[in-house]
Amino acid sequence: MMRTRITVLASLLAGMSASLVTHAQPAAWPTRPVTIVVPYAAGGPTDIVARALGASMTKPLGQSIVIENKVGAGGTIAATHVARSNADGYTLLLHHNGMATSVALYRKLDYNPLTDFDYVGQVADVPMTLLGRRDLPADNLPALARWIQANKEKVNLANAGIGAASHLCGMMVQQALGIELTTVPFQGTAPAMNALLGGQVDLLCDQTTNTISQIRANKVRLYGVTTPNRIAALPDTPTLNEAGFKGFDVKVWHGLYAPKGTPKIALDRLNTALRAALGDPAMAARMTDLGSEVVPEAKQTPAGLQDWLRLEIAKWTPVIQKAGVYAD
Ligand code: ASP
Repeated sequence: MMRTRITVLASLLAGMSASLVTHAQPAAWPTRPVTIVVPYAAGGPTDIVARALGASMTKPLGQSIVIENKVGAGGTIAATHVARSNADGYTLLLHHNGMATSVALYRKLDYNPLTDFDYVGQVADVPMTLLGRRDLPADNLPALARWIQANKEKVNLANAGIGAASHLCGMMVQQALGIELTTVPFQGTAPAMNALLGGQVDLLCDQTTNTISQIRANKVRLYGVTTPNRIAALPDTPTLNEAGFKGFDVKVWHGLYAPKGTPKIALDRLNTALRAALGDPAMAARMTDLGSEVVPEAKQTPAGLQDWLRLEIAKWTPVIQKAGVYAD
C-alpha cells in the first residue's frame, strides 16, 4: 500500500518536474544574440530595413540582434546559407520579393522557399523609384524615354543581381520602353548607387529606403515612383503610371524567415518581438520617413508571410518564364 502511494507520488512528482522542465524551456530562449542575415550589401534598402527592425526587436526579444550581410547571386547565397543553418532560431533571413522570384529565375536553386523555411512574418512594404545619374540630359519620363531611344546602344541600367527587386523593376522598365538595355549587376543597391552617383551607370530603379536620401540631396534625377499611387514622402513626384508607363506597379515586400524545424517557442518569441517592433512608433516613423510603411497586423504573422510568398511565386513564375530570363 505504502509502496503504491510512494510510486504514485513519485510519478506525480516526475510529472510535475517534467511539466516544470517544459515550462522552463521557454524562459531559456533566446540566451544569446540572434543573427539576421541580409542578402545584399550594407547600406542598401534591405540592410536598412533589417537594421531598423533589429534595433526595434532587441528590447522585446531581450537579446541583441546582429546583422550579417551575405551578398551575391541575387540573394540566393544568403537564402541557401540560412536554409542550411541550425534550426535553433538564432539565424534568420530578412529577404524581399527575391524569395519568390528566385524560384523561376535560377535554374539551380539550393533551397525551396516553401519547404525549407519557417516563417516569422512580413515586415515592411517599400516603393521603388526610377533614377538617372544627375547629369543625364532628361528631366522627366517622356524626355528620358526619348533620350534612351536615341542612345539605346550605350545606355545602361544597374541592378543588384538576378532576382533583385531592382532587376525586376529594370525588366519592367525595359518592357515599358520596348527595348533591351545593357544591365550592370552589383551585389546590392549600396554599390549600385555609388556607381550612379559616380556617373558610371545611367539608370537605377530601387527602393526609397536607400534612394530617398540621394533624392532629397538632389544627387540623382528622379523620374517617378513605381507604385500605383504617389507616396507621402515624395508628394510632388508622379507615379511612373501617370508619367507614361501605363499599368506600372511594383512594390517591394519584406519577410523574416527561419530555417525549417525551428522550435515553436523560438518562432513564437520571434513573432511577438516582430509585432512589438512593428508597433514601435520609432520604427513606424523611420519607415515613413524612408517612403515606406510597416505592414498591417494581419501580415505580421507566419501565415501572413507564407500565404503571400505562395501567391507571389504563383504570380511571378509564369511572367519570368514568359520573359525567358534565367540565371545559372
Ligand atoms: N534593393 C536591392 C534590390 O534590388 C537590394 C539591396 O541592396 O537591398 O533588391
